[in-house]
Amino acid sequence: MDLTFTPEQLAFRDELRTWLREHGPEGALTPEPRDEDEQWEWRRAWQRTLHAGRWAGVHWPTEVGGRGATLSETAIFFEELGRSGAPLPADVLGILLAGPTLMVWGDDAQKDRLLPTILSADETWCQGFSEPDAGSDFGAVKTRAVRENPDDPESDWLVTGQKVWTSGAQYAKWCMLVARTDDTAGAKKHAGLTYFVLDMEQAAVDVRPLVQITGSPEFNELFLDDARIPNSMVVGGVGNGWKVALTTLMNERAGLAFFLQVRLRQQLDKLVAAAKRNGSVDDPIVADRLADLHVRTEALRLMAWKGLTAIEQYGQPGPEGSLTKWLWSETNQLLVQLAVDVVGADALTMEDSWGFELLRARGNSIEGGTTEIQKNIIAERVLGLPRAR
Ligand SMILES: Cc1cc2nc3c(=O)[nH]c(=O)nc-3n(C[C@H](O)[C@H](O)[C@H](O)COP(=O)(O)OP(=O)(O)OC[C@H]3O[C@@H](n4cnc5c(N)ncnc54)[C@H](O)[C@@H]3O)c2cc1C
Repeated sequence: MDLTFTPEQLAFRDELRTWLREHGPEGALTPEPRDEDEQWEWRRAWQRTLHAGRWAGVHWPTEVGGRGATLSETAIFFEELGRSGAPLPADVLGILLAGPTLMVWGDDAQKDRLLPTILSADETWCQGFSEPDAGSDFGAVKTRAVRENPDDPESDWLVTGQKVWTSGAQYAKWCMLVARTDDTAGAKKHAGLTYFVLDMEQAAVDVRPLVQITGSPEFNELFLDDARIPNSMVVGGVGNGWKVALTTLMNERAGLAFFLQVRLRQQLDKLVAAAKRNGSVDDPIVADRLADLHVRTEALRLMAWKGLTAIEQYGQPGPEGSLTKWLWSETNQLLVQLAVDVVGADALTMEDSWGFELLRARGNSIEGGTTEIQKNIIAERVLGLPRAR
C-alpha cells in the first residue's frame, strides 16, 4: 500500500496537530490525577473538550456530531492523539463500540435517544458480555432475560444473572448487555441470545468493583436481579444477539491499533533513553532485546496500516486484526519486563510509572480476546488450518 498522505490527509493532520498543541498536554490539559474517580472525571472533561472541537468521534457521521472522517483520517486521528501524549476519551466503549453498533443495528428511536449523549460523555457505556463461565466461549452466556408478560410481544424484559470484568460499569449509564432469551435452541447455543441496552440506574443492578493487581478497580462484577429493560431497548431483534455482538467485537480493535502502536513507540523511546542514561544499553543482551522491541514495534505500525487496507477492500476488519492484537500484547509485556531489568528496583514501586505498566500489562493478553483465541482465529481463518474442535 502507498503510505504517502494526500494533501487532504496532510491538512487534516495539521489541523489536528494545531488543535492538540493548544488543548492537549502541551496546552490546556492539566496532568492526570492518580485517584480513580478524579481520573475518570478528568478523562470525561477531556472528552468534552474533544467534543467541543468536533474531535470526539471523528469517524461518526456529521449529523450525529462526528466529522465523517475516512478510515485513513481516523487512523491519523488515533496516531496523532497517541503521539501528543493525550489520553483516550473517557467513553471509548461508547464511541468505538456502542455508537457504531447502534448505527448498524439500532432503530430510529434508539439512535435518537442514545447517540447524542455519547460523544458529549453525558451518558457513558459499559460492555456486559463476559460471565464467570462465558468469556472466550461467548455462546455459553447464562444470564436470562424473560418477558414480564409472555403473551405480550411488547412487554418489558426482566433480566437475572451475573456479568464480570465489566470495565467502567461503576460510571456507566448504559450497558451493552447480551442475555439468553431462548434456551430451547439446544446445540445452537448462539441462536438464543439477544442484545439489549440496559439502564444501569436501577436498584436491580448491583455493581461491585473488583480491584486489579494494579490497585485500581477498573472493572466490576454485575449482579442482575430482575433488572427491567423495555422492549424498545432490544437491539437488532430478539434472538439476533450473536450477530449484533459480532459488530461490537469487530469494532473493538479497528481504531485502537493506531493509538496503541504509537504509545508502544513512546514507551520504547522512554526505555531506550533510560538505558542510555544508566549505561545498560552497553550490555549486549539489553541492546539485543531493545532491537527486538524496535523491530516488533515497527512491524506493528505497518500491520496497523495493512489492516486498514483490508477494511477498505472488504468493508470490515479482517481476521488479520488478531495478529495485531497478539503481537501488541506480547510486545507490550516484553517491553515492561525489560524496563524492570533496565530501571531496576525503582520500577517496582508504584511511584514509578513502570511499576503500574508492568502490572497492568498482565491483562493485555486476556482483554479483548485472549492470545490463545487470537491464535485459533489466525490458524483457522488466516492460515486455513483445520478447526481445533
Ligand atoms: C482488563 C480487562 C478488561 C475487561 N473488560 C471487559 C468488559 O468491559 N466487558 C466484558 O464483557 N469483558 C471484559 N473483559 C473480559 C475478557 O473479555 C475475558 O476475560 C476474555 O474474553 C477471556 O475470558 P475468561 O476470562 O472467561 O477466560 P476463559 O475463556 O475461561 O479462558 C481461560 C483460559 O483458557 C484459554 N482458552 C479458552 N478457550 C480456548 C480455546 N478454544 N482454545 C485455546 N485456549 C482456550 C484462554 O485463552 C485462557 O487462557 C475484560 C478483561 C480484562 C483482562
